[in-house]
Amino acid sequence: MIPTLLSPDRLKACFAADYTEAHIKFRHACDRHDHSAYREFVYREKGPTNEKLFSSVYWLGNPNAKRVLVLQSATHGVEGFAGSAIQIDCLDDFLESKLDDDLAILFIHALNPYGFAWLRRVNENGIDLNRNFVDFNAPLPDNTAYAELAELLLPGSEKNINEADRKLQLARQQLGQVAFEQAVSGGQYAFADGLFYGGQAASQSQLYLQQIITDFELLKREYVAVVDIHTGLGPFGYGELICDHPPESKGVQWAKQVYGQSVTEPALGSSSSVPKDGLVDYYWQNCLADKLCFITLEFGTYPVEQMFDILRLDHMLHRHTVNWRDSHVQKIKRQLRQHFYPATADWQEMVLLRGRQIIRQALQGLSA
Ligand SMILES: [Zn+2]
Repeated sequence: MIPTLLSPDRLKACFAADYTEAHIKFRHACDRHDHSAYREFVYREKGPTNEKLFSSVYWLGNPNAKRVLVLQSATHGVEGFAGSAIQIDCLDDFLESKLDDDLAILFIHALNPYGFAWLRRVNENGIDLNRNFVDFNAPLPDNTAYAELAELLLPGSEKNINEADRKLQLARQQLGQVAFEQAVSGGQYAFADGLFYGGQAASQSQLYLQQIITDFELLKREYVAVVDIHTGLGPFGYGELICDHPPESKGVQWAKQVYGQSVTEPALGSSSSVPKDGLVDYYWQNCLADKLCFITLEFGTYPVEQMFDILRLDHMLHRHTVNWRDSHVQKIKRQLRQHFYPATADWQEMVLLRGRQIIRQALQGLSA
């Protein structure tokens, strides 16, 4: 018999095929603990088959714990499969033993349930939540480089896409890969149906997150470690730890001390991610300053060019009312799901194992 670290049953128990299954599995995982600690934040919008949408929140451990690990999933909707599975695995199996009295884990399941259900990165208003955390009372960040590419990224019709691609290739060569990626994905506030759009006001999810931070009195805690789980960037199955705290700040120091040398920093060019505007990370940093370490746990899938191509098709699709049962719609949605959730056993196993490692490291760091 070859020993296995994770059985096929375990993978099946943790991963879901769609948002509703993920939501139900998460709720059941919470039910096995203290049921009263479970809460749901309901959304106005519905899923593609008229299902209800929630951000579900669960507090595991002493309500007065001084130090808190926050596990957040589906900030980017369709990327929620991995984060949801890590959360369920953690609730189900990993933490059989009781947490130390000073420690608690706050699970935020599906911060963007609309995107999770509709297999989109963005929310009900086409907003990328991870570009939405800017000060809307101040002038919004200006991304002229995106404006110059906007027409090529999302041409009027899918028929024009080959011609647009040739021009985009040229732009990529002229700008260089990093500057090109930053122009496209760094965040923009001028094209509401465009890629990586940050919005014109705080999103519903942002307001719920603010409420969660207030309701669970996170500002009063001694230390908070947030792990926000994403997919779609970097080598297949590898869980990169991306740290967007300012270089050499206390947050970076904590991250490196606790998670080790695999921590990368977009600001220093060591990450598969580029510096971006309006990250949810910055909101947490504003709230908690030196009492916080926020990391993005990003699981790789396929090349970034493929991601841009699929996102372009999705945005062109959602310019019009989407008929969920239409075969063209289903084809594009299958590609989106595949890109952000490959769903093979090797990928799933890598996700859960890395998830367990990061959770253990975070809890050890918080206990020290
Ligand atoms: Zn993401």
